[in-house]
Amino acid sequence: MQDLSRRYFMQGAAATALAAPFIGSAATRDKTSPGKKLGVALCGLGKLSTDQIAPALQKTQHCRLAGIVTGSSGKVDEWRKKYSLPARSVYTYDTMHRMADNDDIDIVYVVTPNALHLKHTVAAAKAGKHVFCEKPLEISVDRCKQMIDACKAADRMLGVAYRCRFEPHHIECIRIAREQELGPVRIIEAGFGIDVGAADQWRVKRALSGGGALMDVGIYALQATRYLTGEEPVLVSATETKTDPVKFAEVDETVTWTAQFPGGAIAYCTASFKVHGIKNFRATADRGWFELDPAYYYGGIKGVRSDGKPLSFPQVDMFAAELDDFARCVIEKRPTSVPGEEGMQDVKIMTAIYESIRTGRAVRV
Ligand code: NAD
Repeated sequence: MQDLSRRYFMQGAAATALAAPFIGSAATRDKTSPGKKLGVALCGLGKLSTDQIAPALQKTQHCRLAGIVTGSSGKVDEWRKKYSLPARSVYTYDTMHRMADNDDIDIVYVVTPNALHLKHTVAAAKAGKHVFCEKPLEISVDRCKQMIDACKAADRMLGVAYRCRFEPHHIECIRIAREQELGPVRIIEAGFGIDVGAADQWRVKRALSGGGALMDVGIYALQATRYLTGEEPVLVSATETKTDPVKFAEVDETVTWTAQFPGGAIAYCTASFKVHGIKNFRATADRGWFELDPAYYYGGIKGVRSDGKPLSFPQVDMFAAELDDFARCVIEKRPTSVPGEEGMQDVKIMTAIYESIRTGRAVRV
């Protein structure tokens, strides 16, 4: 799986990976050595960190949970006890610069609301830590650029937590598409819809989320269209529908968009905070189709091919897989296949999709 992962994702991210930060002279700062597990500090102890990432860290080969950054003092005792964390490895968002003195921490995994990723990434990079950041990378291209620049200036790596990129069914679909096993892919249908829940959460507040369904779940469908084609969309056309203008006053509720790719493929995609249950992609090529449904859940990924051949692999913990890959990149001093530039590209395309919604016109990316 690792070979496939490298082969196909490196192709897809070739342009950006070339620009990705290699670990240069400051590598001497790294306390990495073969066999040593890298210390990961979780920044933001919300639902994802608690339910997925911290447990996944226990399953990794190359990482260990070594610290926490939280604004909630009430969470500290429980986390310290559960994960045997020393007091000196507990930080607040305002004290995380002090990590510079803490050799137990190699990587900061930023898991806060989208519009805080910049602040927390810059603080971590300045403290000399590599940064792995949740999706979307940030809420504007300019803010993504600032994150990339901060990590470059500190000679640290920046990776985006695109977990599906390390999942075997997705990797196989990329192979089928790129090797044109069923002929060239012509049409991709992709969508992710959830019922987002409470109206008082940051996901529906523009200042913290940057956008609604598209930024939160549509990004998975967007990523799929890009990694299946290995191309960048050149033209997007989008529309939004809002059935609850109170709850979704600040962000998009349901968005559909089409995207044209230079090789001739066309994608039609959906993102929704209202309609639960859409979670798939299907790629149709000249001699058949292949699909994943569910494609984007934490587990239970299922694949089908039109020719009846199996598209089935063991389920993996995607968070453990992506963290191990990032740690290996740090240890082996090679670029990640999911660099900051890859996250910035998605934000650029989502910005174009929002512009299309606003103007009612197709937008060149
Ligand atoms: P959450 O609301 O459960 O947790 C957010 C954490 O940030 C909380 O601990 C909260 O206390 C903290 N926080 C710090 N400052 C805050 C502020 N000003 N306002 C609100 N919270 C603040 O959210 P989550 O679901 O854990 O999402 C966190 C990040 O992870 C987001 O970027 C999200 O897009 C991403 N995410 C990714 C996946 C995935 O599958 N990769 C899944 C869910 C969320």
